[in-house]
Amino acid sequence: MTLLPMTIRELLDEGLKHECDGYGRHHVCVRIAAIADLPSRFGSFQVVAFYNNRDDKEHAAFVHGDVVDAENVPVRLHSECLTGDVIGSLRCDCRDQLESALQKIGQMDKGIVLYMRQEGRGIGLINKIRAYGLQDYGFDTVEANVALGFRDDEREYSVAAHMLDSLRVKSVHLMTNNPRKVAELTKHGIVVTERIPHIIPPNRYNRFYLETKAVKSGHLIDFNEKEHLLEQDDRPIVEGMSEDQVAALENV
Ligand SMILES: [Zn+2]
Ligand SMILES: [Zn+2]
Repeated sequence: MTLLPMTIRELLDEGLKHECDGYGRHHVCVRIAAIADLPSRFGSFQVVAFYNNRDDKEHAAFVHGDVVDAENVPVRLHSECLTGDVIGSLRCDCRDQLESALQKIGQMDKGIVLYMRQEGRGIGLINKIRAYGLQDYGFDTVEANVALGFRDDEREYSVAAHMLDSLRVKSVHLMTNNPRKVAELTKHGIVVTERIPHIIPPNRYNRFYLETKAVKSGHLIDFNEKEHLLEQDDRPIVEGMSEDQVAALENV
């Protein structure tokens, strides 16, 4: 069951007319701008493209099944990572996280992956690559941190909350290991009835994650003792992690 043409028309009409006071400190308002079918290797999805009044970022929702007016819809929030998601970079595990979420949701009755166009945690590609570059040249991560460190949390959650609201989702099961994310969405009016742990199977690409010495203050350390900065604010639990590692994730 997917969104029916009638429902799509309704959502698009609502998108055209929609106006509100905006979510969060910056009064972010988003509107549904376009919807289309999107068969994928992870199952059948529909893609919903959103306009927002704050910047030129075009966020998207990948919708599986009929989520409109539905309760307890499984939802995963993913932040764009060009190098990981598209190119398969091993400097991060964004692609593993994304694929795992799409795969799981693609097999469920219904669910949504919100794809937030906030590269490098909102600082943009250039700054992200700058930080990578600094790390390559052996800079300590302080400087890299300065480049990657700031981030507009409120925007992420207010936009995501509004997107879910625009899709008329009544309540969600949030696929996350991060209780803070549940709290943030709740603050913006989303009813989170359950948290589904995001557990992904190990493979050769995310092994580095397992073999990190520790998950310390939200940073990962790779085989070469180099610190990697996180791009997703929500770490997956990779099967095989110790209880301590899992516990550390929840406090990120
Ligand atoms: Zn609005
Ligand atoms: Zn990444």
